[in-house]
Amino acid sequence: ITPPETVRHSFRAAVARAPERTALAYFDGRLSYAETDALSDSVAGHLAARGLVRGDRVALMLQNTPHFVIALLGAWKAGATVVPLNPMYKSGEVGHVLKDSDAAALICSDRAWEDYLRDTAAGSPVRIVLTACELDLQTENDPRVLGFERVPAPVDTDDLVGVARQGLGAPSGRELSGGDTALISYTSGTSGTPKGAMNTHRGITYNAERQRTGHPIAEGSGYFALAPLFHITGMVCELAACIANAGTLILAYRFHPGVVLDAFAEHRPAYTVGPSTAFMALAATPGVTREHFASFEVISSGGAPLPPALVEKFREGFGPYIRNGYGLTECTAPCASVPPEKEAPIDPVSGTLSVGVPGPETVVRIVDLEGNEVPFGEQGEILVRGPQVVPGYWRRPDATAEAFPDGELRTGDIGFMDRDGWLYVVDRMKDMINASGFKVWPREVEDVLYTHPAVREAAVVGIPDAYRGESVKAYVSLRPGAEADPAELAAYCKERLAAYKYPREVEILAELPKTTSGKILRRELRTQA
Ligand code: ATP
Repeated sequence: ITPPETVRHSFRAAVARAPERTALAYFDGRLSYAETDALSDSVAGHLAARGLVRGDRVALMLQNTPHFVIALLGAWKAGATVVPLNPMYKSGEVGHVLKDSDAAALICSDRAWEDYLRDTAAGSPVRIVLTACELDLQTENDPRVLGFERVPAPVDTDDLVGVARQGLGAPSGRELSGGDTALISYTSGTSGTPKGAMNTHRGITYNAERQRTGHPIAEGSGYFALAPLFHITGMVCELAACIANAGTLILAYRFHPGVVLDAFAEHRPAYTVGPSTAFMALAATPGVTREHFASFEVISSGGAPLPPALVEKFREGFGPYIRNGYGLTECTAPCASVPPEKEAPIDPVSGTLSVGVPGPETVVRIVDLEGNEVPFGEQGEILVRGPQVVPGYWRRPDATAEAFPDGELRTGDIGFMDRDGWLYVVDRMKDMINASGFKVWPREVEDVLYTHPAVREAAVVGIPDAYRGESVKAYVSLRPGAEADPAELAAYCKERLAAYKYPREVEILAELPKTTSGKILRRELRTQA
């Protein structure tokens, strides 16, 4: 695989190939590659005029909107490193990232600025602020979404849209290369304090190119941004892969099942990727039909466990086969995926669905506690080496040394590899439940729960138990209109799992807590329990 040096190179190639093609589609609005190029040039020119220099950090905190993409490309064109921020972050979380990354600029929504970011930024290194009007879902059909005619930006900031339309042109001499840090991605914190993984341009273009060549989709196809763009999955598998294929990136603000299905019907995308919870939600949306998925060539799930029962239910109900993929922020999204002509096998013993095979130039090893490689089929920690693995965490030599000894990533995930090279992710090491000295992996119990017809979502955690040390507790949410009681669900698992594994307690919740990227937050449930 020979990827372009940076995403900017790949964007430039797309502009040259298809200047008039729609690069960004957002409800009723569209921007061509040439327009997106010109708008992001202006943002770059503005940032440079305000004193931003190569390597400075630009914090970017927006939903899936054209503004996000224009700001991102503009910042890269100005030679900056982008720090994507989850728009759900509260003041304390943003404050931590702005300080930790030593951000010179902040690009955010005008509303968030007025609400709380003005105060947050006051005590931070930020000296350049651009705000954008992000619109509510109620305005989804408003043609002005891309007409950029909205309320005036806050007085003490520059307006992203106004700036983008100035026609400033890009500053020259700021060309980045593959080894430069494109992003500092703060891990979403499913487990602990966020650290900034330094994703290089080459890491991003490598994974985008791998996807383009590994899962060929007609050039210019629609890529639906189901995963948020601030998350590495959205950034790489949606945005960068779309640009690599000169495709149309279809944006819909943030995940809202009804709106997403309408956008599928309108834009007929060929590709999308999201966490398994997004597919569960889509499958449970009133009015969903096979027709909504008819245009897809590839649907991938990544970033969270994919229950095999969901894959089957989805195929039966809607047609597409959901392709599993294994990735981490530290791997700049995927490091293993299911090859196009194949289906992922299911391990006959545990019932776990394989996450695929490691990509080219990617070496996955499974090691025991002493660091020795284990034989095929045996469980151990998953280690990854490859062009997509980040060189480390931003200004954290301690954490870097711990997670990347000798440049190889210690994922903290337990898995195994079969004889044919298929990789299986058993669970996160730290989520293991120790019940009377027996290891219980939450995933295995969750996979069983997902086979129950009433179960929509399931999460299993360990809770303190005076006798066993820890015991297994399951939280579930039910499919709309379905009924089941906790005792019945516990009995269902008991029939299918060894005695130490089935949940002693089952609690039914209306909704399970999730990160904005859609991952179920076991940590929060553990605290709750
Ligand atoms: P943390 O904050 O602890 O780093 P995170 O969820 O924020 O966690 P991400 O980089 O977004 O970090 O997620 C990576 C993790 O998601 C992997 O380590 C793995 O546990 C899980 N994961 C990713 N893909 C899969 C998959 N296909 N099957 C099972 N688990 C997966």
